[in-house]
Amino acid sequence: MSAPRDKGWLTVIGLGPGGPHLTTPAVMNVISEATDLVGYGPYLDRIEGQEPSQRRHASDNRVEVERAGEALRLAAEGRRVAVVSGGDPGVFAMAAAVFEAIEAGDPAWRNIDVRVEPGVTAMLAAAAEVGAPLGGDFCAISLSDNLKSWATITRRLAAAAQADFVIALYNPASRARPHQLGEAFELLRGLKSGDDLVMFVRAAGTKEARVKLTTLAEADAADADMRTVVIIGSSQTRTIDRPDAQPWVYTPRREMVGEGGA
Ligand code: SAH
Repeated sequence: MSAPRDKGWLTVIGLGPGGPHLTTPAVMNVISEATDLVGYGPYLDRIEGQEPSQRRHASDNRVEVERAGEALRLAAEGRRVAVVSGGDPGVFAMAAAVFEAIEAGDPAWRNIDVRVEPGVTAMLAAAAEVGAPLGGDFCAISLSDNLKSWATITRRLAAAAQADFVIALYNPASRARPHQLGEAFELLRGLKSGDDLVMFVRAAGTKEARVKLTTLAEADAADADMRTVVIIGSSQTRTIDRPDAQPWVYTPRREMVGEGGA
């Protein structure tokens, strides 16, 4: 259990992938104790039963480090601040932005009681929708090149394919970047078997969850949007057919050499 907190504080929280049932009790507790909620507007809107006395600081999705600085200033003034992310706050989200702001910011911010409260990240909720595709070794790559170069992304994709990791792709598509997922599939087709499985999981962990299961050869980038995680199987990832439902997908923990493996 965490120590009690008597002055201003900042906690970076993750709401989980969407449904309130996947928000942890520890995160709910931080929300109920906060005086200020800071984050991207649609995430703040997901919080039910906000106190009228709670101040909301909604902002655009892109200005993460400035938003983190604003949150740190509030905490330094004695406010109890929850910085809100979707999923897990440490996965392509606000926690790193808070630490980046602290590292570059006012030295007094290093005395603030800053904590991170984990959440269920999209890739875990997506995996659970289809079975256990992350049962073996896996990696997560964000396809967004807002904060890093496309050359870095393709280098990591190639290395992940060569290492036969299961690959979870976050931020697979946006209106500003319509071609990147298609380019990523092209690159992977040159390095992996066309029979390797690809799962498009949209709105994982919510009532609207939708899964499309296909192969790398057939994968169509148009099936992904900004609420989709794309999971690309390793050579070991396999399906179990079911008579009346879509197949389960799993990656065995044990290496099955010569049984569909590389
Ligand atoms: N911190 C978040 C990720 C933020 S990046 C987390 O841990 O989940 C935003 C990307 O996350 C989206 O583009 C999408 O790829 C993925 N994502 C978020 N919620 C999702 C959901 N419910 N289902 C599928 N993908 C989701």
